[in-house]
Amino acid sequence: MRGRSAVGSAEPCQGSGRGFEPRRPLAGGVAERRGSGLQIPLHGFKSRLHLKVQRITTLFEIELSMFFAIDIGGTKVAIAKVSERFEVVKKLEIPVPKSQDVWANISPIIKDFFNSNDLEKSHPVGISTAGPINLEKGEISPVNIPSWRNFPLIDNVKKLLEVEKVSMIGDAAAIAIAEHTVGAGQGLTDFLGATVSTGVGGGVIINNQIYLGTTGNSAFFGHTRINLAGNVCPCGRLDCVELYASGPNLVRTANKLEIAVENFEELTKLALSGNDLAKQIIDNGAKAMAIGIINFFCDFDINTAIVGGGVMQSSEFYRTALQAHMNKEAEKVQFIGKPKLIPAKLERDTCLIGAAIWASKQ
Ligand SMILES: [Zn+2]
Repeated sequence: MRGRSAVGSAEPCQGSGRGFEPRRPLAGGVAERRGSGLQIPLHGFKSRLHLKVQRITTLFEIELSMFFAIDIGGTKVAIAKVSERFEVVKKLEIPVPKSQDVWANISPIIKDFFNSNDLEKSHPVGISTAGPINLEKGEISPVNIPSWRNFPLIDNVKKLLEVEKVSMIGDAAAIAIAEHTVGAGQGLTDFLGATVSTGVGGGVIINNQIYLGTTGNSAFFGHTRINLAGNVCPCGRLDCVELYASGPNLVRTANKLEIAVENFEELTKLALSGNDLAKQIIDNGAKAMAIGIINFFCDFDINTAIVGGGVMQSSEFYRTALQAHMNKEAEKVQFIGKPKLIPAKLERDTCLIGAAIWASKQ
């Protein structure tokens, strides 16, 4: 399977003299840098010299190995400074304005935050964004930000921040990359990384690499059709997984059935207090998600999904229902075997971390 470079990324960084090699994650989720130009044995005078040089080198590298990440979601934009160990050092969240001119509203805030956190021209900036995206053109058209259609995000970020290296990836691909490098997917060769919250998204790791597809939207299984009834999804297609599985859509279903809840949290509370109808609605959402996941497993002949997002995190009840429906859906598909459901390890900052890891590899 091929990987694909994001548009807008420039040549590999030469600043540290080592380039940005892929890092091997350590057990505690800490990334390790490979190799060193200086291999002085650790004894006597040389050992002291080595330690001194190492210390200077380390300080030098830390300064150069900072990443700056932007995560465009349907309701909020998160921006962060991320360390070379892929830990979020500083972060700011900005609600996506309801107005038409989203960029005019958020861009000054992004610029101020990055500049006050020592952004330099040579620092890599990684973007994770809701899709669909167009990697070749560096454009995005997030389903939940209707005023952005074919919006040239990479060009705008480059102009705004005056930086050389800007890379972009879909948010679910960012989740898959982050989980694979420092999360629950460490050591797994092939898996679907998925999220179920306001929407449903996916990213896929095949042969230890993210597979992005032709335009950067591979594993877009949230908007694949699972029914023939003809209900219109905001993306324009009919009967998408997301239309039956996402948190807001389950709340909408509950409201139609005269259950007065305002959000998925309230629906979960009601289900956990024993309300059978609420339980049934959530179970149905898990079923839609399971059908989407098993369809995807069949396409790629894989059997593991790492799933995160607010709905997945909401309760053991949801997770159990999802695993049960995945088992049932896979029953007749012999080659899949027993489908594995693994809860995502990284949560709130996953997309920012994934964007920074992706930026480090460009
Ligand atoms: Zn759709």
